[in-house]
Amino acid sequence: PDLSLPEMLTEAIHRYGDQSAIYFYGEEITYNQLGEMVQSFAASLQEQGLEKGDRVALMLPNCPPYIISYYGILLAGGMVAQVNPLLVDKELAHILIDSGSKTIVIYEPLLPVLHAIIDQTEIEHVIVVRLGENEAKHDQAVDFETFLKKATTPPDPVAIDSVEDTAVLQYTGGTTGRSKGAMLTHRNLVANVIQQYEYFQDVLTPGEDRVLTVIPLFHVYGMTSCMNLSLYTGAMSILLPRFDLEEVLQTIRDVQPTSFPGVPTMYIALNSHPKLSEYQVDSIKICNSGSAPMPQEVLRSFEKQTGATILEGYGLSETSPTTHCNPFFGTRKLGSVGIGVPGTDYKIVDLAEGTKELAPGEIGEVLIKGPQVMKGYWNMPEETAQTLQDGWLSTGDIAYMDEDGYLFIVDRKKDLIIASGYNVYPREVEEVLYEHPAIEEAVVVGVPDSYRGETVKAVVVLKEGASCKEEELIAYCRKNMAAYKIPRIIEFRDELPKTSVGKILRRKIREESQNK
Ligand code: ATP
Repeated sequence: PDLSLPEMLTEAIHRYGDQSAIYFYGEEITYNQLGEMVQSFAASLQEQGLEKGDRVALMLPNCPPYIISYYGILLAGGMVAQVNPLLVDKELAHILIDSGSKTIVIYEPLLPVLHAIIDQTEIEHVIVVRLGENEAKHDQAVDFETFLKKATTPPDPVAIDSVEDTAVLQYTGGTTGRSKGAMLTHRNLVANVIQQYEYFQDVLTPGEDRVLTVIPLFHVYGMTSCMNLSLYTGAMSILLPRFDLEEVLQTIRDVQPTSFPGVPTMYIALNSHPKLSEYQVDSIKICNSGSAPMPQEVLRSFEKQTGATILEGYGLSETSPTTHCNPFFGTRKLGSVGIGVPGTDYKIVDLAEGTKELAPGEIGEVLIKGPQVMKGYWNMPEETAQTLQDGWLSTGDIAYMDEDGYLFIVDRKKDLIIASGYNVYPREVEEVLYEHPAIEEAVVVGVPDSYRGETVKAVVVLKEGASCKEEELIAYCRKNMAAYKIPRIIEFRDELPKTSVGKILRRKIREESQNK
């Protein structure tokens, strides 16, 4: 049956009532308590005038009010517009205007960003979440805690059509361009939870798991693989509002999570910790990695130091997000993002026309079909028509499949470098750079070149205490890759710009490199 998200939560409350749903700095919230707060929040929204389909923006770090608001909005019949707390005023204005949100739930320190642009938007109600004691009170806004207690009656039931009704506007990260709101329906989101559950059911233990939730919940990966999957399986979400290396390791030691959905840069940071191997990470049954390519060297080093196993998966905002993952039991292939999660169809088509289906081993664009594929982009019928045809979603990712159906992501179409007429996939060059002992992080971009069209440039961060010269790295590349792939320019930096989920901001590096 197509459950809605609030129905999914209700089932979990029946099953796991007194168990902990949330853990936040030593405090625990049970499923029953969460359910009551979600009801109150929904009722207060309705009293304030929220009607079915109204958008409510959520701009919060990982914290209990995030989960309460998210489910409260949905129970009241609203739609969640996800907002990254790191956005600057112009970007925030874009999402608030585009979504037409009239209410926002916002973390107190972010109010100045909102106030700078609030006049351009339709925002009428501001609900403020405070996590510290020193945060100032604001006259124009209502406090989250006060708002929660405002309603005197339970919320009016709202009929939700799981297939048609959009639950979440998931704004794409914008690592490649203007942020678009992917419309994810209740069915999309619940389907992806069930797909992930079915894929990993032999490892998960309903009612007993603890999920280290440090990936932001406003990101599709955190939303589904941490929050929603945890609620479905009766797990406890251990919420951390930011990735702080020491705090993450202490949390692993003290609270003993059983799963850790992470991203490559988190594993890079963990690898760099001098005492990583002294921390017990054995409580963790599954470490996942997704959202960006996992350099094989990083995976190997983490597994060697900790004894853990990382399973790499793949997905997009547009697919709720998970479409592929390596299995826990069964063959894991390094460098591959695995096979489709149950109910997912995928194929590779030619890059030029996008119509011819390719054979195993041939490189083209990967297309996806399944219950987790979005309904379309909010307010963007043309982009929707370009991206979704007959239920097949064009991912914009270049990939190939092997004989066993394992998918290998080669690169993003937009990141491809064409140097002297040769296709250079940045990722391939990066993999080689990561194997160099002095390199901690590397990103490869194309920069305009009057002779070659584009030329390959690498921007690298060295490991602490390591030293390496440009000539040395170029010589190393010469030994390890074909001449046309060798970076002609190498820039050393102390750190790389990243999105809040920890993806390296290639677009920014490319722009900076082009303006030089
Ligand atoms: P935008 O699409 O606006 O540039 P974004 O990168 O933040 O923003 P997401 O939907 O979060 O958008 O990311 C999806 C993309 O992430 C995929 O299309 C793919 O390029 C990349 N990706 C995700 N997982 C992997 C993986 N395991 N290996 C390689 N690439 C991955």
